[in-house]
Amino acid sequence: MRKPIVAANWKMNKTVDEAIELARELVAGLVAYASVERVLCPPFVALDCVRPVLAGTGLALGAQNMHWEKSGAYTGEISAPMLVGLCQYVILGHSERRQYFGETDESVNKKVKAALAHGLTPIICVGENLAENERGATAEIVTGQTRAAYAGLTADDAAKTVIAYEPVWAIGTGKAATAAGANAVIGLNIRGVLADLYSSALADTVRVQYGGSVNGANAAEYFSQPDIDGALVGGASLKPAEFAAIVKAAAP
Ligand code: PEP
Repeated sequence: MRKPIVAANWKMNKTVDEAIELARELVAGLVAYASVERVLCPPFVALDCVRPVLAGTGLALGAQNMHWEKSGAYTGEISAPMLVGLCQYVILGHSERRQYFGETDESVNKKVKAALAHGLTPIICVGENLAENERGATAEIVTGQTRAAYAGLTADDAAKTVIAYEPVWAIGTGKAATAAGANAVIGLNIRGVLADLYSSALADTVRVQYGGSVNGANAAEYFSQPDIDGALVGGASLKPAEFAAIVKAAAP
């Protein structure tokens, strides 16, 4: 049995004071759902102040990105050793990073390796954009991004990862993928690649989330799918009641 995992990607929202307030509100609605792994990913500057809010609640903390090098002349960047002790998870390869900040399959792979080397759990985002979807290239894009993210990873390391399938056209648009469609992509093009690279046992172990316009009303349908183990949530994660409804829907 894979434990469901629902993560909140706050993106570039909330000042430090607002982040503390939002974390408190989220915690109040989420503490009851211990059967779901609940992860809050605020902006970097809020990690240290949200951390005490989550202490003893069972909720985990994650970052939204990191650099692959340990330290050096990389102005404005944050490294894995800087995150160790602050948070347990890190979102890597989000489509907004790929689209606006030039992240490539190669840089995502380096970040995945760096996260694992420092004991952080990467939430690796993959997904096709609208043009790719419309020209029928979903399988090619998703399998390609998944293969690239795991290049050079041992089975032991791969087993520690989480993947988020996020069709880019569904992110923040209100146009969510169908649950059956997302389940098929995850089963065939993500678990299929993991089975090919490692084993079907490993493919069955790794948790895969769906992300893209998930809300309290549609979450249960995703979570009823056999290959979907939770969600990576953007917009709705800023609304405590809505996010609590998503987490509740994920509880087995
Ligand atoms: C995301 O940013 O990962 C995301 C899924 O956003 P939204 O839920 O707003 O579509």
